[in-house]
Amino acid sequence: MALIEKKQMWTRFRSITNKNLSGKPICCGICGQEISYGEDGIEYVKTKRGTEIFVHRDCIKKWG
Ligand SMILES: [Zn+2]
Repeated sequence: MALIEKKQMWTRFRSITNKNLSGKPICCGICGQEISYGEDGIEYVKTKRGTEIFVHRDCIKKWG
């Protein structure tokens, strides 16, 4: 699992929400809770399968 730089992460977040015409919120890939732009304690990670997800740092800890 690779962590992505903060600045890059929020740029990515914005581009995803802009493209998201259905208005579907971005949620934590682990607990499923909605994530808001600029929120503290958020990480953007790339899983082994190559999927990029937003997650809470606390959730990563719980996840292992
Ligand atoms: Zn979470």
